[in-house]
Amino acid sequence: MPTPRPARTRRTLYATAAAILTITALLLASTTARGATTTPLYASTGWKAETAQGIYSLSPDPYTIVFADDTARTKLAGYFTEPASQVTTSVGVPITVTTTLDTTPVGSCPARHRIIVHYTYRPLGTQGMSQARPCYNTVDGSAWGGHILMDSEYWTSSSWFSTTTTVNESHRQNAVTHELGHILGLDHPNTDRDQDGVVEAYECVKNAAGWTPVLCAPNGGDRSSTGAGLFVPGYDLTGLKQLLANYYLRQTG
Ligand SMILES: [Zn+2]
Repeated sequence: MPTPRPARTRRTLYATAAAILTITALLLASTTARGATTTPLYASTGWKAETAQGIYSLSPDPYTIVFADDTARTKLAGYFTEPASQVTTSVGVPITVTTTLDTTPVGSCPARHRIIVHYTYRPLGTQGMSQARPCYNTVDGSAWGGHILMDSEYWTSSSWFSTTTTVNESHRQNAVTHELGHILGLDHPNTDRDQDGVVEAYECVKNAAGWTPVLCAPNGGDRSSTGAGLFVPGYDLTGLKQLLANYYLRQTG
């Protein structure tokens, strides 16, 4: 039985992005014409694997989302339904949102493939910052599960991002999906698009509709009525599919 290990606290990782990009260029050479890869791939357009946290792949075994307490369950369960369904159907890794409560301490990894959700005021001590604490499998480098600490301010501040209710709600949805993405092995995909030598906040690739990957730091994602709360196709979703492919490629390669 492999032992899980908590990865370092998740924060913005601007400083490391440039180095990773160099690796990306080399790895892209192994991409086939169909888009599938014959060797593991850890970054591409709009997504990046959380290799800095020890996560290189996503195993196909089912995940369960559980809650630290009744408040977290009441406030947050509904926000996980859509992204869980998307990963289940589009990636092929089943994620079930349960009603289970789990009091495993934040500093310890939960049972394998369990994601514990907390509703916490400023878990990082900084306004508006939530925290993901992913664990990884020390044997094969796959995502293990972990803790998500959502900053309660997103729910207690009625006009957090905008005076428009739907805009605020879309930010909440994307914030939850962003942290779930970290647990599943995705890092921030910010890149130095304007080539000024600095990878800045919100500096991420955009799709035709103008949306960035939901993993863009400090926040991103599609805020339309149909896209909010989802991993963005072509970016985050492609990354999750590749992380699953990596699981097999790393075993046979
Ligand atoms: Zn993040």
